[in-house]
Amino acid sequence: MRAVRLEAVGSIALREVDKPVAGPQDVLVRIEACGVCGTDRHLLHGEFPSSPPVTLGHEFCGIVEAVGEAVSGIAVGDRVTGDPNISCGRCSHCRAGRVNLCSNLRAIGIHRDGGFADYVVMPQSQAFLLPANLKPTHGAFCEPLACCLHAVDLAGIRPGASVVVLGGGVIGLLVVQLAKLAGAATIVLSTRQASRRALAEGLGATATVDPSSVDAIDAIAGPVGLVPGGVDVVLECAGVLDTVEQSTQLAKSGGTVVIVGVMPQGEKVAFEPFDVLFRELKVLGSFINPFTHRRAADLIASGAIEVDRLISRQVTLEEAAAVIANPGAPGEVKVLVVPGIG
Ligand code: NAP
Ligand code: ZN
Repeated sequence: MRAVRLEAVGSIALREVDKPVAGPQDVLVRIEACGVCGTDRHLLHGEFPSSPPVTLGHEFCGIVEAVGEAVSGIAVGDRVTGDPNISCGRCSHCRAGRVNLCSNLRAIGIHRDGGFADYVVMPQSQAFLLPANLKPTHGAFCEPLACCLHAVDLAGIRPGASVVVLGGGVIGLLVVQLAKLAGAATIVLSTRQASRRALAEGLGATATVDPSSVDAIDAIAGPVGLVPGGVDVVLECAGVLDTVEQSTQLAKSGGTVVIVGVMPQGEKVAFEPFDVLFRELKVLGSFINPFTHRRAADLIASGAIEVDRLISRQVTLEEAAAVIANPGAPGEVKVLVVPGIG
């Protein structure tokens, strides 16, 4: 079968490899779609640790082609989405129910072979059923949505709340939709590209801001801004210095800031401890998707989350390595690799 292999840091190529075989507890899945994520680019450039040689791709869905003898509840022909993050179940964090903090976390598409391929094998515990009538490409959004759900859960958005989302990539655009579902009355998205601001306004943002033409803090939280004094919840979904520094200044006193964007390891930002103390801000980190994959799959299956408008392009397995090796094109939100079209 075909697989997009990270052969070493800096080296990625489509290769012919053996079709994997399902062990007793595994399911073998024929990939329908697998999303390209910023993390794939970080893995290629060695900015995120992985275990090459390995097949990349951690946002996938497909059809079960074979199941191991100990598998129950999933059958050949079922459509499934994979939760790529495999926790050990034995470390102190797992035993405390904090599986995303597992000391031995291993991820499909990072440490073991993933979904930029014709087939993937995963433990049954990572597979979640999707409806047979779902559009195949939609299942690829379960993984990013599950990460966004964790962030929105941590944020504690209540009906009527005011929310700022910083960064209008796929994560920010999913978070906007979840904030709306959670009942936020005001949802402001700050992102530089006009096409993304327009998209966000169609997906539930009540206002948008272009941080390259206005001062985002003044425009949002200033005395004559959109929400004078700041908002209940800020979700930082860009992972850049500017937005992380803005995040505490956009929260109102007593507000919550959730850091979702990934900044390069070791990088530092400036913040004012006095401000965090005096205004009792809560600053939280949100990492991956603990116990949220099932809910993400249900939201995708129900159609409550719009994903069609987030798909910028569908590419073949043959094109995938070049897509990962190059930066995303302007305006692009999500690129899906669809083995069936090539
Ligand atoms: P993305 O497509 O790169 O989106 C981030 C967007 O932020 C950029 O495309 C950019 O859009 C915008 N941005 C950049 N500078 C900005 C600024 N100064 N002000 C406002 N917006 C700015 O990435 P993504 O896939 O949506 O992911 C977002 C972040 O979440 C990434 O850092 C990713 O690694 C991280 N992530 C975290 C988790 C987790 O578990 N915590 C899970 C998945 C992803 P414009 O060009 O329109 O400004
Ligand atoms: Zn563990």
